[in-house]
Amino acid sequence: MKELLVVSGKGGTGKTTIAAALAVLTQDKVIADCDVDAADLWLVLHPASIRKDAFRGLDKAIVDRNKCIGCGLCFEVCRFDAVGFEGQIAVINRDSCEGCGVCFRCCPQKAIEMKENIAGHVMESQTKYGYMVHAQLGVGEENSGRLVAEVRKRAREAAERLDARCVIIDGPPGIGCPVISAVTGVDMALVVTEPTVAGRHDLERILDLLSHFKVPAVVCVNKSDLDEGRSLEIAQYCASRCVEVVGEIPFDEDVPRTLAQGQALGTGQAAREMRRVADRVHSLMAI
Ligand code: SF4
Ligand code: SF4
Repeated sequence: MKELLVVSGKGGTGKTTIAAALAVLTQDKVIADCDVDAADLWLVLHPASIRKDAFRGLDKAIVDRNKCIGCGLCFEVCRFDAVGFEGQIAVINRDSCEGCGVCFRCCPQKAIEMKENIAGHVMESQTKYGYMVHAQLGVGEENSGRLVAEVRKRAREAAERLDARCVIIDGPPGIGCPVISAVTGVDMALVVTEPTVAGRHDLERILDLLSHFKVPAVVCVNKSDLDEGRSLEIAQYCASRCVEVVGEIPFDEDVPRTLAQGQALGTGQAAREMRRVADRVHSLMAI
C-alpha cells in the first residue's frame, strides 16, 4: 500500500481541488484529508459518516480558586501569556494555554490541574469515490501534527482493511509541524504551486522540506497561463533540482463552476490536464 501526499508551500494554490481530482481518478484508494484547518474535501466528496471519535489534544491547565494564593509564579513561567488574574486569583485562558504543564509543576500550592481537552474529532466516512478519513478541529483549536498523524494512521488501517492499493492525502499548507507530520514516510509528494513570486518562494521551501525527509517530489503548476514567464521559470527551477513538472493546469472558469456545483472534477481544459497529471503520478508510483 502506497501513500501519495498532495501538498503546497502555502494555501490558496488549488491543492485541494487537485487532491479531489486525484481522489476521483485513482482506483482502490482511501482518501485522507489532513488539511484539517480548512478541511474542504467533504464539500465535493459528500462523505456519509460511519464513525466519529473524539480527538484528545494536550491537557490544559485549570486553577482551583480555593487553593490559589495569588503568588503569581504561574504568570511568570507561562511562555504563552495564558495566565491572567481575577483579583488575587490566577485564571488561565484555555484558548492560549498550550498545555506545556510548566505552571502545573511550579505552583507551590498545587492549585493547578491539567484537565482533559477534546481538541476535535476524527471521522471515517464513505464517499462515492471511496472510503475517507477526515477531521474536525474544535473552536479555537490549532491544527497539530498529532491530529494529522492520527488521520494518516486511521487511513492506513482502513486501506489495509479494505485491501486498497494507496492512500491519497490532502496535506496541510505551509511547512510547519502539521506538514512535517503529513510528509514523513509517504511514497511521493505532488507539490501544487502557482506562477507568482510567493508561489515560487513557497515551492522552494516545500521542496527543501521534502528533500530533507527524502520524499520523492513532482510538481504541478496550477493556473499556469496566468503568468507564462513565471511558469517557465518554475519549470527551469524544477529541472535544476531534477524534479519533474507533471502538469501545467490552465486557468479555467469550468473549475470554480464545477466546485460551486459540489462536483470534484469538471469537463473543461483544466480537468483534462488534471487527468494527465493523475495518469503520470499513477505511472510513477505504479498504482
Ligand atoms: S502559582 Fe499557583 S498559587 Fe501561585 S498564582 Fe498561580 S495558581 Fe495561584
Ligand atoms: S500549561 Fe503551559 S501554556 Fe498552559 S497556562 Fe500553564 S504554563 Fe501556560
